[in-house]
Amino acid sequence: MTQTPKGLRLHIGLFGRRNVGKSSLMNLITNQAMSIVSEMAGTTTDPVEKTMEIQPLGPVVFIDTAGIDDEGSLGEARIKQTLHVMQKIDIAILVVEPNVWGTFEEKLVALFKEKKIAFMIVCNKIDQETPQESFMQILLEKTPCCVKMSATIGENKEVFFERIQEIIPTSWIKQPSLLGDLINEGDVIVLVVPIDLQAPKGRLILPQVQAIRDILDHDACCIIAKERELSYMLSQLKSPPKLVVCDSQCVLKTVADTPKDVRVTTFSILMARLKGDLNALSEGARMIHNLQEGDKVLIAEACTHHALEDDIGSVKIPRWLRQYSGVHLVIDHCSGKDYPENIAEYKLVIHCGACTLNRQGMLSRLQEAQKAGVPITNYGIAISVLQGVLNRSLEPFPLALMAYDEKE
Ligand code: SF4
Repeated sequence: MTQTPKGLRLHIGLFGRRNVGKSSLMNLITNQAMSIVSEMAGTTTDPVEKTMEIQPLGPVVFIDTAGIDDEGSLGEARIKQTLHVMQKIDIAILVVEPNVWGTFEEKLVALFKEKKIAFMIVCNKIDQETPQESFMQILLEKTPCCVKMSATIGENKEVFFERIQEIIPTSWIKQPSLLGDLINEGDVIVLVVPIDLQAPKGRLILPQVQAIRDILDHDACCIIAKERELSYMLSQLKSPPKLVVCDSQCVLKTVADTPKDVRVTTFSILMARLKGDLNALSEGARMIHNLQEGDKVLIAEACTHHALEDDIGSVKIPRWLRQYSGVHLVIDHCSGKDYPENIAEYKLVIHCGACTLNRQGMLSRLQEAQKAGVPITNYGIAISVLQGVLNRSLEPFPLALMAYDEKE
């Protein structure tokens, strides 16, 4: 069975002191789960992530923060880890036991509110102790979404699942589609997919698969060609396609081979729109024109894939950037969960398409850079600037083009 990619799952963080019954709650949820796909523990203090299919929520990632809180206090290191989890969750569940509420819980609630994370409070273990009226009042002052339950015996299990559905953010339910809004029923869309050394063996990469699925969902047709065959393939079509979407690495050739009246964009630009904020990421690309001798640039990737020869992030973008700017740049790289705290040191962040991150995770990275006053852009936009074709590849998104304010 092919599993839903993690970046497309609802991310739920589980918080609470030691021994409040987070494990029993996880067991209850797990029993409801159709399958636990994987369990990924990092270091001993890292939160454990479990991906599963839960009825009625669908595909989710549970991030169990057990280990963050085992002294029942939020020390500096634990706050850091907690914040790290909060950067990527869509929903938080705070588990408490009857009649126990202190600064630990207060701080967590304050963080949920500060980060605008929808949350519910589970008052667990009601089979062992009855929560007092005044205690429930404290919880209800924090959020109307409170559930009294016993995860061990499953009491109020249905209420728990009903409540959790109520707090799923609308932004999650109404997530934008990758390219559905750009096409109509019956349109023909051409996808340009290079099959080079970096292409994974025997499969397509996630943004390509997502694009195909989105095109089919919108009752349109999709033709896939390698960049070498694009020109010939277009010449064989009776009428031009509605849109051509290419890998960023062949955007120059794709633009050259595609008639001017056909719109072109890249998978990475579509991902920038889906996962982040295309206008902000386009605006960030202006900084490419202003890089000075010795400036630091961060190239950030959301996964830790094995970089092959002529890798886009570690080789091609740095090379194009140095050629374009004509100055010596200090280029750092980060990948996977690592996202540096010293972001303010950089003059520019160039982020990958973030196909493995959920939207919340990418938006948090974007906000961190913006908070530090550092322009941030994405691979697709940066490559189009460096290749001198951004006017063309952002043509389907006029607001983003305005945000960039083309300077070439
Ligand atoms: S580098 Fe970024 S866009 Fe590329 S596969 Fe990894 S997460 Fe996806």
